[in-house]
Amino acid sequence: MKITFLGTGTSQGIPIIGSKHPVCLSANPKDKRLRVSILVEWDNFTYVVDCGPDFRYQMLRSKCVKIDGIIFTHEHSDHVLGFDDIRPFYYMQGDISIYAHKRVLKALNKRFDYVFKTKNRYPGAPTVITNRVKNEPFMLNDLEVVPINGKHDELQVFGYRFNDFAYLTDMKTIKNKEVEKLKDVKVLVVNALRLKPHQSHFNLEEALEFISKVNPETAYLTHISHLLGFHEDVEKSLPENVFLAYDGLQLTI
Ligand SMILES: [Zn+2]
Repeated sequence: MKITFLGTGTSQGIPIIGSKHPVCLSANPKDKRLRVSILVEWDNFTYVVDCGPDFRYQMLRSKCVKIDGIIFTHEHSDHVLGFDDIRPFYYMQGDISIYAHKRVLKALNKRFDYVFKTKNRYPGAPTVITNRVKNEPFMLNDLEVVPINGKHDELQVFGYRFNDFAYLTDMKTIKNKEVEKLKDVKVLVVNALRLKPHQSHFNLEEALEFISKVNPETAYLTHISHLLGFHEDVEKSLPENVFLAYDGLQLTI
């Protein structure tokens, strides 16, 4: 399985428009972060987790020309706003499969009503095949995916486990019985927003605590704000098996 980090930044991305913060002004490409998303590939299959406002550019940058589906973690703008840009894939492939909690499907339907409309459809509007994700394992082709249920402040959010790899973003609290689903996972990705605590995201300390609880072989941090610091500095401060993800990073699992 191959994982590509398409984006590793928090909701505004890094740099933030107009910001004079040193991290936003950094010349290091690793300090430039689009909104969070990953590509999960195995055999001939390609799935995207979330499609935020940078989706179009992320597909171009990663030279992704075919997707088998999009899996959503939750409905916040930084995770869904690129949905209109499924059009080129729809024109090449036909209906696009999407996987999400029923509340997220409803939110997509509200924001992108022209995609879901059955009458008086706008010419060229894409169509999708909706798959409702419940808190139980489901199949993506031949691969079993295990949802990990958590809370993003008060909002329910799904992380996903794909065999030895798990991807959790926008988590603040996770019940122990959900953490147990991550037992023996080899590579864990989890959100770490910044140093100070935040109402709806793990800060660095909480992310590291969570990682030691899960105890994977290696862990990567994502959904990063400029307030976490420079990539190089933060990376040096991390435990041996924990790394900062960066845009374009690829892992083979
Ligand atoms: Zn987010």
